Amino acid sequence: MSVIISTDDLEHICPNCNGTSHVTIENEEKPCSKCDGKGVILTALGQTLLHFMKKHI
Ligand SMILES: [Zn+2]
Repeated sequence: MSVIISTDDLEHICPNCNGTSHVTIENEEKPCSKCDGKGVILTALGQTLLHFMKKHI
């Protein structure tokens, strides 16, 4: 049994900006608000892991 978690399990390419991390609003490039300019969105598993890490760091 494998316990390896791949990056795809933790984050998804942001559908709002398509992973470009910014969106064009009224001909202006703005950081994507959905992903905070990261280009990716955390999955439930990613969020769980992040919460856990923050708690114990
Ligand atoms: Zn985005």
